Amino acid sequence: MSQKRDYYEILSVERGASKDDIKKSYRKMALKFHPDRNQGNKEAEEKFKEAAEAYEVLSDDEKRAKYDRFGHAAVQGAAGARSATMEDIFSNFGDVFGGSIFEEFFGGGGRRARGPAQGASLRCQLSITFIEAAQGCSKTIELSRNEICETCKGSGCKAGTQPATCTTCRGVGEVAQTSGFFSIRTTCPRCHGAGRVIQTPCGACGGTGRSSKRVKVEIKIPAGVDDGTRVRVPGEGEPGAPEGRRGDLMCYIQVQPHPIFQRDGDNIYCEVPITFTEAALGSEITIPTLKGKSAITIPPGTQSGQIFRLRGQGFPNVHGQGAGDQLVEVVVEVPRKLNAKQEELLREFAKTEQRNVGPSKQSWLEKLKEFFKEE
Ligand SMILES: [Zn+2]
Ligand SMILES: [Zn+2]
Repeated sequence: MSQKRDYYEILSVERGASKDDIKKSYRKMALKFHPDRNQGNKEAEEKFKEAAEAYEVLSDDEKRAKYDRFGHAAVQGAAGARSATMEDIFSNFGDVFGGSIFEEFFGGGGRRARGPAQGASLRCQLSITFIEAAQGCSKTIELSRNEICETCKGSGCKAGTQPATCTTCRGVGEVAQTSGFFSIRTTCPRCHGAGRVIQTPCGACGGTGRSSKRVKVEIKIPAGVDDGTRVRVPGEGEPGAPEGRRGDLMCYIQVQPHPIFQRDGDNIYCEVPITFTEAALGSEITIPTLKGKSAITIPPGTQSGQIFRLRGQGFPNVHGQGAGDQLVEVVVEVPRKLNAKQEELLREFAKTEQRNVGPSKQSWLEKLKEFFKEE
């Protein structure tokens, strides 16, 4: 007991804090450490109880005065909230949250396994280039989003007015319907479970508490995304209930096709034309890559359709697991026109071929011989 924390410290308020500030701070703590939001978390439960105890003392003028003068010992037993059950704490909640606010936070006057409602998530589509997908990029988009109405601060009420307790359900948010020998409780049809109704709606938002706004959102797109990849931007959706989390922005990526590269998973593929002399004699050629260009060595005797693999030159894996390869398929081009000198040289070359037949040609000739024998 000697290690008890200071009540003001627990509620993180100044010693001279007003009753209102203490209440506000307690509300925040109670929401943060509420057992419904911290299932099975012992530490949160302790903090929750500790805050309840501190609030019980500091919200009571007499107890607070005693505590201020004599410390914990003066209010020991009097407060006793630490030994109080969770149910006791909950039964005191009505005072702190003013009944209806409690319902708004926890939904319907009791303990429900549900936190404050999260805001709606939004979707958008974003078209990026092939190279941007490979390198990652940052894009700013503009969208319309429902924000909390600035005029009424989200309450939906005209300035100076308050929502009234729903008369249909008397603020409970539920109504009992008796049908024959049994009765069921359903959400109140008038207030839709809120327990309150807006009598004089805010002129700016018509009572919804929300208004549409154009906003700019920066989206960081990681390297390696593919067509259809979903990028989540947390907290850029619409606002939720008070103390509730904002929704997210879900961005669906569309990757534009590239004139040279095709993608297959994390690998990219491209075709590179080479001349028949480059193929036969071997050469060094420059090829385009995702990062610019690179040189590859074509060995003498390269065939059309042969594929060269450049390790790690494909797309970076979007989950950070290495990178794909670049596959380069060489396509040997036969000259469409020869000048006199070239033709002469090739005819000379052709003469030498009679005695120097390549392996694939040889087997082809053998197959032909077999074919005609069978005729
Ligand atoms: Zn409004
Ligand atoms: Zn109602």
